Amino acid sequence: MIERILVTGGAGFLGSYLCERLVDEGHDVICLDNFFTSQKSNVSHLLDRPNFELVRHDVTLPVFLEVDQIYNMACPAAPGHYQYNPIKTMKTSVMGAINMLGIAKRCGARILQASTSEVYGDPEVHPQTEDYRGSVNPIGIRACYDEGKRAAETLFMDYHRSNKVDVRIVRIFNTYGPRMHPFDGRVVSNFIRQALAGEDITIFGDGSQTRSFCFRDDLVDAIIGMMNHSDFIGPVNIGNPDEFTIKELAELVIEISGSSSKLVERPLPSDDPTRRRPDISLAKDKLGWEPKIKLAQGLERTIEWFKSINLSDYRPPTP
Ligand code: NAD
Ligand code: UDP
Repeated sequence: MIERILVTGGAGFLGSYLCERLVDEGHDVICLDNFFTSQKSNVSHLLDRPNFELVRHDVTLPVFLEVDQIYNMACPAAPGHYQYNPIKTMKTSVMGAINMLGIAKRCGARILQASTSEVYGDPEVHPQTEDYRGSVNPIGIRACYDEGKRAAETLFMDYHRSNKVDVRIVRIFNTYGPRMHPFDGRVVSNFIRQALAGEDITIFGDGSQTRSFCFRDDLVDAIIGMMNHSDFIGPVNIGNPDEFTIKELAELVIEISGSSSKLVERPLPSDDPTRRRPDISLAKDKLGWEPKIKLAQGLERTIEWFKSINLSDYRPPTP
């Protein structure tokens, strides 16, 4: 069935690929974005499609739209981006959730929240299961993002219980791929840029901390599956359970790109989680989903994309 679908943050890394997939499926897609961390070029290829509409708007302000489904993706995701204006980050998560839940309530639309593995903070439980309540430092430099996303989950569940809003919550683990912001300061984009330029690869700390990296296409398959599941509301972990140390990631990027870059150590930022890996049993069971793309394969595709772009077309975030 053709749906009217709103994608907030639709010009971003994940949102733009999601819009592309939904437009290709024939839905009427409204992409809403304030371009804080994204470029119009991420969606310029969709502008002449009759079932695609681009709206410049900030989710912290109310908006009136009539839709059947909402993917609430608007929020800076990289530490450097969300720490740039931490108060705005918290507002985007909380006021953005309230405004979008208001539309869902008024229209009877189903609404999916792009939550995050960061709700688990620096986890004492490994791998992380959905029933683990997390270990977040509420006054640390990551709190604007982690606590903002936790508050958004609370709002989603309260609108669901109090107002019968049809909600879905996915907890996304580190995701990478083409169209990620090359200057977002995250580990995959930094390492690829550094490797291609032959610069030193900056390992924060000793590189023994771990992350589990999911390729963009696998991730978007899962969130579309979650949106269209008949009754499973989550929260559900979506990510790739293959876990790598940051040093292993650096070595893999060097090998695949054929780079001569050297590894250098830099100070570890505060509150940097020591390890992170999703338990995806619930996603497998409820959605029949698991990632298909291995890290080496996904990195090859991402490195090819980095080679194809002009870095001077990308700017740092602006308020
Ligand atoms: P991104 O920064 O590329 O995309 C976010 C988009 O939201 C951007 O286009 C940005 O301009 C827009 N935006 C930010 N604040 C806004 C506001 N106030 N009003 C309107 N638009 C606004 O990041 P992404 O990686 O595509 O992340 C998309 C969503 O997925 C985010 O909610 C993020 O928290 C979540 N997520 C991503 C990851 C990941 O690894 N990429 C992991 C966990 C969760
Ligand atoms: N990191 C690193 N070098 C970089 C950028 C990041 O070693 O140039 C580390 C960072 O300290 C963290 C991990 O890589 O341990 C992942 O960082 P990222 O910012 O990508 O995402 P996070 O999972 O921390 O939100």
